[in-house]
Amino acid sequence: MAPMLPLTPRRKTLAPAAAEAATRRLPVLRLSVEGLLLLGCAWFALVSNRMFVAGALKGRDWGDGSAWAFGAALVAGVLALHLLMLALLSNRWTVKPLLALLLVATAFASFYMQQYGVYLDPSMLRNVLRTDWHEAGELLGLSLLLHLLLHAALPLLVLWRVEIVTRPWKRALLVRLAVVVAGLGVLVAALLSMFQPFSSLMRNQKELRYLITPANYLWSLAVVAGADARAKAAPRQAIGLDAKPGASWATRTRPLLVVMVVGETARSANWGLSGYARQTTPQLAERAVINFAPVTACGTNTETSLPCMFAPVGRRDYDEARIRGSESLLHVLARAGVGVTWRDNQSGCKGVCEGLPTQTVQDIGAPEGTCKDGRCMDEGLLHGLGDMLRNARGTQLLVLHQLGNHGPSYFRRYPPAFARFQPECRSDDLRSCSREQIVNAYDNALLYTDHVLARLIDTLQAQAATLDSALLYVSDHGESLGEANLFLHGLPYAIAPDVQKQVPMVMWSSAGLAGARGLDLACLKARAAQPAAHDHLFHTLLGLLDVDTALYQRDWDLTAPCRAVAR
Ligand SMILES: [Zn+2]
Repeated sequence: MAPMLPLTPRRKTLAPAAAEAATRRLPVLRLSVEGLLLLGCAWFALVSNRMFVAGALKGRDWGDGSAWAFGAALVAGVLALHLLMLALLSNRWTVKPLLALLLVATAFASFYMQQYGVYLDPSMLRNVLRTDWHEAGELLGLSLLLHLLLHAALPLLVLWRVEIVTRPWKRALLVRLAVVVAGLGVLVAALLSMFQPFSSLMRNQKELRYLITPANYLWSLAVVAGADARAKAAPRQAIGLDAKPGASWATRTRPLLVVMVVGETARSANWGLSGYARQTTPQLAERAVINFAPVTACGTNTETSLPCMFAPVGRRDYDEARIRGSESLLHVLARAGVGVTWRDNQSGCKGVCEGLPTQTVQDIGAPEGTCKDGRCMDEGLLHGLGDMLRNARGTQLLVLHQLGNHGPSYFRRYPPAFARFQPECRSDDLRSCSREQIVNAYDNALLYTDHVLARLIDTLQAQAATLDSALLYVSDHGESLGEANLFLHGLPYAIAPDVQKQVPMVMWSSAGLAGARGLDLACLKARAAQPAAHDHLFHTLLGLLDVDTALYQRDWDLTAPCRAVAR
């Protein structure tokens, strides 16, 4: 052992010395604030905006000289835009931390834009900001690490070796002014030189601007922060102040419960009941459910869809500020005396259930094995439901918010018994799997949702003698599974493919509820073949639960033409 002893202290002093020597070998880059900004912005324009330039030049021929000129003007414009923006925020103390922050954030942003075809518009950014860390953890992987090494670590190393050269303040001010004027000049010249193609691009594909990085996420961040500040300053607007129980409440003999299951990321294209080549809904197919034709979702991400699904006017006259600033259907129902409970197995109700009774699957003590590493299987949502039904009084709405098919780790959403379609993708990094594996894992997760819904129907049916009940299942938005090289969801609504917007919807009613509400299920089945949208949900639930309010619009109640009791 003795000869080993002297090694310990020597090793301690060796490491920093070696690092110091290595550091000394790296050249120091002496730059002014403006020089450093120019370097940083050139990096962003040339390296981080690949998606934007490629999108803008799509369909053009490489042999075409005007395409090259357009591309060069775009890069120059992007560079000038960022230079102008950052010149306002930078001085000798802020420039390095600011660039370091932007380099790291931009590396993450460009990774997700390139890998999954994500556009960082305000809606997507809101979704990213509200994502909980369990979801974020599933987005990390080896390919991200490699991307970060190249796009963040490498430029950070250069930045670290930069020494800022300072100027006397009068001269510094003049230089800065000159840079701003020059930046403006380049931006204007770039815009003028490509006026024709650029203006037609912005008319036809204005979402492309959300690929200009880092301006896209900085802009979206400012929009979201502004909207949130305004929302915080003003209390949520009360709606449906006139809500009261309908006539049927007095004549009913049994308690009535509607269970609404808010699905997650289930797309209509893979839904067995809707004609998918694969039977992904075998258990529902054996039950007397009404399957709706593909339903048009209000948004392409949870943050947009969820509040919209519970609003009186959703996509047909979309106004995000009004929806976020107002109470939801749940508040209107509660005002009329409906017992409302929100049970969550995901990232919360996005304000929809604010101030109303809420539970999470963790709270309700779901059985052993349901939850692992802070994530629970959706069956946990059904925990204790039998007792709940036996004790139900009056008129109730229970909302179950699923984890469903939340990606990218579809394989984590179901127990092994549902891994029926093989081979399945068992990686958090979708790009490391084949399309077939991704689709298999996605479909397995749908099989599990099918199972959860079937169990729920059986539980409701078991209490049908003493409780009138109905189930309404609808997903919040769809998903891209590699079509057109797109993955996940959240593309700007105007350009999102149908697979992100078309979702399944299923209804089931006990004979008692159908009787109590005069509901002709055969008629409803016929109606279900027609198109429907999230916009129908608000009015359909008012109709099913028989709540009277001036907000109710009969035309948007899917059950209205099929109810004998006029209202
Ligand atoms: Zn969602």
